[in-house]
Amino acid sequence: LHVAPALAQGQELTLERDQSNYLGAVLRMQPGDEVILFNGRDGAWLARVVNPNKKAVSLELVEQTAPQTPPSDLWYGFAPLKSARLDYVVQKATEMGAGTIQPVITRFTQVHRLNADKLLANVIEAAEQCEVLTVPDVAPDITLDKLIAGWNPERALVFADEGQASSSPLEALRRLAGRPVGLLVGPEGGFSDEEREKLLAQPFTVPISLGPRILRADTAAVAALAVIQATIGDWR
Ligand code: SAM
Repeated sequence: LHVAPALAQGQELTLERDQSNYLGAVLRMQPGDEVILFNGRDGAWLARVVNPNKKAVSLELVEQTAPQTPPSDLWYGFAPLKSARLDYVVQKATEMGAGTIQPVITRFTQVHRLNADKLLANVIEAAEQCEVLTVPDVAPDITLDKLIAGWNPERALVFADEGQASSSPLEALRRLAGRPVGLLVGPEGGFSDEEREKLLAQPFTVPISLGPRILRADTAAVAALAVIQATIGDWR
């Protein structure tokens, strides 16, 4: 479970109402039952239920089970998709090791109003499920023009471009080893011709193909994150 307070040996803490309800009423935890806690700063901790009160479960911290992992430097930008597909891409980006998740508004982006709390809740839930100890930052949305204008050219901006369909992405990605990287994936309607030309004209962009078929935007996100992790990922 992701919690806010600092985590240290012997400390007791009381969970917020939603988490208390989940542990107390849904999982019916009893005194002595164990749960793993993390807060994004102090690693993972084994905790034991002291009082399973459904409105305010209290826990005692027993021991640290894993040290804090360093934050990921992988930046992931995506044009917001509709409801379930939006939830899907932020969950998958969290699982696949993105450190920053950045909604980018492009010409054909269909979703302009984002619920930042819901996005973050989704990210935290994915982190909880997959033992990602450092919850990615969810940045406020930005237009593609502003993103390009403010981009630090030291960081390569890999963008998924179905117009590159005949070339493998592996060579291009391997050349980026050691350099900070961002990944940008377009909306349901793709990038406009003008946006694509502007992206291609930047010295810091690296267009990659994900194969000769058009992928849905959410599939493209997972496929691109997978090839990035497979070539220049953080297990090096
Ligand atoms: N209309 C579909 C949908 O509803 O998702 C397809 C959208 S596709 C145009 C969306 C984005 O996925 C593109 O802007 C691009 O970033 C990426 N993409 C899709 N297929 C790709 C491919 N074969 N190679 C590289 N990027 C791809």
